[in-house]
Amino acid sequence: MGPEVVELEQQLADFCGAKHCISCANGTDALQLALMALGIGSGDAVFVPSFTFAASAEVVPLTGAIPVFVDIDIESYTMSGDSLLRAIAYAKSVGLRPRLVMPVDLFGRPAEYNTLSEITIAHGMTMIGDSAQGWGALYNGQMTGTFAEITTTSFFPAKPLGCYGDGGALFTDSDELASLLDSLRVHGKGDEKYDNVRIGVNSRLDTLQAAILLEKLAIYADEIAARQRLAARYNAALASTFIVPEMPNHIMSIWAQYTLRAQSSEHRAQVLNQLKAAGIPTAIYYPKPLHEQTAFQNFPSDPMGLKHSEIAASCVFSLPMSPYLTLEDQDQVIGVLKTAVV
Ligand SMILES: *Cc1c(COP(=O)(O)O)cnc(C)c1O
Repeated sequence: MGPEVVELEQQLADFCGAKHCISCANGTDALQLALMALGIGSGDAVFVPSFTFAASAEVVPLTGAIPVFVDIDIESYTMSGDSLLRAIAYAKSVGLRPRLVMPVDLFGRPAEYNTLSEITIAHGMTMIGDSAQGWGALYNGQMTGTFAEITTTSFFPAKPLGCYGDGGALFTDSDELASLLDSLRVHGKGDEKYDNVRIGVNSRLDTLQAAILLEKLAIYADEIAARQRLAARYNAALASTFIVPEMPNHIMSIWAQYTLRAQSSEHRAQVLNQLKAAGIPTAIYYPKPLHEQTAFQNFPSDPMGLKHSEIAASCVFSLPMSPYLTLEDQDQVIGVLKTAVV
């Protein structure tokens, strides 16, 4: 927690336009700290998309609250407002208290914050934005980090703004929440370090990682611009063969992943085999939606089912994407995909 940490927090807050940034040890801690600061606990329902990384949901039962799984929109891969409404009604019907909505900015694309915020407010809830993959993206010209009561992010190396180990941060405009988070990340400290006024955790960002992040933040806007160019090139070349991620005008993704959808799971398996044979690395984020996983299958979900989460899990795959991907390498990936069996 050296001087670079304080400097980084200031620069991160300035970059996205949030009033406060509180750094911490990783993106999962950031989510847990956010839930703790908002006093989420037993009897509370927290609405989480099923098609996301496990961290989004796993922090909820750690606080004693219940994650309620919500489906995604198949075009955006982010939380569906219609499904959220059904999940809220269902949670109420089984005696849970709807407290929190947690949209995830999956693959670098901001969730539909206008729609989701309206629902959140109408039901007297609060919102945490899980922007581990989307910090720096734009929604109606405004940057992620400013839409929810608290926004969290991760600096794990695979994220768009990655350090050389683990790191995370929280963003809020609330002075009260900021000072609460600052206490919670240091064992619930009071005015002095050895005066503990609440139960907290140990979640420090290393000074070394902060120093690395300061350098990477200085080139982050350029890296985001490079990702736009590569994503546009992939889209133009592949739209006739696959379902490509089209961004509407009000959205600028930061392309944490460039994710295509095949026609079926068989089609995906064939394409992945051909890419593998050509030595091109690919990944499936995520092969199994959370509501089908052993750890989560007994939690409630939208009573109409989570069809889009299941389709996405069986058909999506992600291609090489980095600001430093050369056009030659990208053309090679495109070339293999264009001749892949359809
Ligand atoms: C990576 C990730 C996290 C967790 O971040 P860590 O720094 O790995 O703990 C949380 N949510 C989403 C959506 C993520 O992609």
